Amino acid sequence: MSDCIFCLIANGTIPVDVVWQDEHVVAFRDLHPQAPVHVLIIPRAHYSGMDDDVPAEVHAALCAAAPLVARATGVADSGYRLIVNTGPDAGQTVAHLHIHLLGGAVMSEGMVRLA
Ligand code: 5GP
Ligand code: ZN
Repeated sequence: MSDCIFCLIANGTIPVDVVWQDEHVVAFRDLHPQAPVHVLIIPRAHYSGMDDDVPAEVHAALCAAAPLVARATGVADSGYRLIVNTGPDAGQTVAHLHIHLLGGAVMSEGMVRLA
């Protein structure tokens, strides 16, 4: 999609700090990091989010990338958190499927924090 910022990142039109990539997936540092390591893992193909009939092989490629991105960014052993915001209640702001990988600091114990 030509007006999707993550599509423009995936095709190289908008430069980002890429930490890992393969033919299906790009992982790059978030513009506004919420942790010492904050990387977004996205499919090169456009899906608006988890509810966009995402093929199983795309989910598989994203999940398979996560531990490799963690290794590439130095948090594989210390630990990391994966988050997929889906829809308005979750605060999804970019309508291109992405996994947040957060690490590099001890995080709060709770799984969720309501607004
Ligand atoms: P969401 O809120 O949709 O789950 O996450 C979107 C994320 O994309 C946010 O954490 C935001 O900081 C990040 N983001 C938005 N635009 C850009 C950009 O142009 N470059 C990078 N590197 N990150 C971006
Ligand atoms: Zn897109």
